[in-house]
Amino acid sequence: MGRVENRVAIVTGGALGIGKACCEVLAKEGAKVAVTDILDKEGKKLAEKIKGAGGVAEYWHLDVANEKEVEKVFSEVAKTFSKIDVLVNNAGIAGVSKPTHEITAEEWDRVISVNVKGVFLCTKYAIPYMKKAGGGSIIDMSSIYGIMGAPDAPPYHASKGAVRLMAKTDALFYAKDKIRVNSVHPGFIWTPMVEGYLKSLGNVQEGRKALDNLHPIGHVGEPNDIAYGVLYLASDESKFVTGSELVIDGGYTAR
Ligand code: NAP
Repeated sequence: MGRVENRVAIVTGGALGIGKACCEVLAKEGAKVAVTDILDKEGKKLAEKIKGAGGVAEYWHLDVANEKEVEKVFSEVAKTFSKIDVLVNNAGIAGVSKPTHEITAEEWDRVISVNVKGVFLCTKYAIPYMKKAGGGSIIDMSSIYGIMGAPDAPPYHASKGAVRLMAKTDALFYAKDKIRVNSVHPGFIWTPMVEGYLKSLGNVQEGRKALDNLHPIGHVGEPNDIAYGVLYLASDESKFVTGSELVIDGGYTAR
C-alpha cells in the first residue's frame, strides 16, 4: 500500500519546482492528485506524465488569488475524485528584491495577494470538504524567510511570516475536526523560481555557488527534499503533528 493510498490531494502551483515534485511523490504513494497552476501547458504535461506512470492525476487551471476560481476548481476536484483530503498550499512568487522604501504599493500587494490571500482562499474552500471527509491535512509552504530576516525581499518575508502563523491558527481552529495544518520551511531549493531570481541578479553559476555556501550541508536542496516532507505531513505517519514547522534547509537556520 502507498503511504497516501486513495487520498485526494490538491497541489497549488503544481506545474513546476517544488509543487511538481509534491504531485509526483504523492501520486507515486497512491494519492489522486489535482495538479493546479496558472501554467496550463506544464500542468497538463505533468498530469499526463503521472498517468503514464500508472498514477491518478488531473490538471486544473487555478490562480490562487482569484476567489471565484478557487471555489469552482475545488468543487470540480471534489466532484471528480469524490472528496478532498489533502491541500498543499504551495503556489508562491518571489516578488521584488529591493529595499522597503523603493517598493511600490502594487508590488507589495501582488506578493501578498498570491502568497497570503492565496493560502487563505484555498484553505477557506478546502475546509468544508475536509470536514465532510472526516478530517484532512493542510500543508502551507512557508520558507526559511518566514523564520528569519535577510536584507533582500521585504514583501516575500512578510508573506512567509504570515503563512507560518496562519498554519498555527488554523491548526487550533480545526484540530477538533481532525484537520491538521502545518507549515514547511525550505532553504534554497533549485527550482525555476530560484534560477529566475539569480538570472535577475546577473550570473547564475556564481549565484548558485554563493547560495550553496549559505547552507552548512554545502549545497542548495532539490524539490524532492521538500516533497518527502510534504508526503510525511499528508500521511497518517504524522497523525499527532499539527501547528508545527517542518524546517528542511540543509542547516541554514541552525546557526
Ligand atoms: P516556482 O518554481 O516558481 O513554481 C511555483 C509555481 O507556482 C509556478 O508554476 C508558478 O507559475 C505558479 N504560480 C505563481 N503564481 C501563481 C498563482 N497566482 N496561482 C497559482 N500558481 C501560481 O516556485 P518554487 O521555487 O517551486 O516554490 C514553490 C513554493 O515554495 C513557493 O511558495 C515558494 O515561496 C516556496 N519556497 C521556495 C524556495 C526555493 O528556494 N525554491 C524556498 C522556500 C520556499 P509562474 O512560473 O508563472 O510564476
